[in-house]
Amino acid sequence: MSDLTLTPIAPAESRRPLLGASQAELTEWVQQQGQPGYRGKQLYQWLYERGARSLEEISVFPKQWRSQLADFPIGRSQIHHRAVAPDETVKYLLKLADGQIIETVGIPSDRRLTVCVSSQVGCPMACDFCATGKGGFQRNLERHEIVDQVLTVQEDFQQRVSNIVFMGMGEPLLNTDNVLAAIRCLNEDVGIGARHITVSTVGIPGHIRRLADQQLQITLAVSLHASNQPLRERLIPSAKPYPLADLLEECRTYVQLTGRRVTFEYILLADFNDLPEHAAELAHSLRGFQSHVNLIPYNPISEVDYQRPSPQRVQAFLDALKRHRIAASVRYSRGLEADAACGQLRASKLKASL
Ligand code: SAH
Repeated sequence: MSDLTLTPIAPAESRRPLLGASQAELTEWVQQQGQPGYRGKQLYQWLYERGARSLEEISVFPKQWRSQLADFPIGRSQIHHRAVAPDETVKYLLKLADGQIIETVGIPSDRRLTVCVSSQVGCPMACDFCATGKGGFQRNLERHEIVDQVLTVQEDFQQRVSNIVFMGMGEPLLNTDNVLAAIRCLNEDVGIGARHITVSTVGIPGHIRRLADQQLQITLAVSLHASNQPLRERLIPSAKPYPLADLLEECRTYVQLTGRRVTFEYILLADFNDLPEHAAELAHSLRGFQSHVNLIPYNPISEVDYQRPSPQRVQAFLDALKRHRIAASVRYSRGLEADAACGQLRASKLKASL
């Protein structure tokens, strides 16, 4: 046995970064540190309203305590790189405590500021059209790392964030615990309405149901991308063990349990899934479903040679769905020129080129 095994190690939980914690949790923590409970409220305000990056800067805390806690992690990242697209979308590469890099996008429009957050470093789903999936998977993000992305964009824009979409790197429902913990914090502590939070998933068996059981008012967006099972399997490896019919069934349960309609995302790939027969097939599957279809014209990535359909083809697909009385709209992604649009996030590659 080496000497090392005898070294006392502080339990991981005791050094868990503070960001993401509720006021009650923070109060408990300050009390564990031998401080009066009201310091929990002060800490809460400094974390979520003043954007404190270290405990040392919290000037209302006693000096001695502050210096003792100087290196206790709050859980903020560093902006490693920032790129602004001509449409004013800003893409951030954020450096985490362990050196991993993730991408976050800030999307301003009129009075809104939407943040596209990552839920994992990389992504294991390996969808054929998505750059993130080409780079492989590193790890799940912790709750503080998700909350931090929103605070970072808010501070950089000097504007309150109004909307959050879990459409950055990663599959949120493979990291459901941390995503739910982050949503709680973003809703209750950062003050973003649940109806302004969207979780986008390719579908993980049982996890849409789990989300439904939470009875949240958030929007569920499901990456469908194909009108039938064989086509979907060609795009999404995880579709094989989770047939389209089962996925739609779970979505129906979501609607029943939450009373919220589901958004179906459908990426349009020219001559692959954008033909009139695909629109008809999709309309048939979704008939009577309380849902909205979001058509996303493919954003090119270098690894594959899918094509984005012409605007006329996109319009024709939209019109066909509407003729079948399916609620639908087209989402032209923002930030294309900065590689910040849907599916283009691949921090590892960018990191290498910096
Ligand atoms: N893993 C989740 C969330 C991340 S992707 C999901 O699959 O839903 C967010 C959205 O961007 C998804 O609908 C995804 O399918 C879409 N997307 C991925 N690559 C894209 C590309 N190249 N062009 C357009 N949309 C893309």
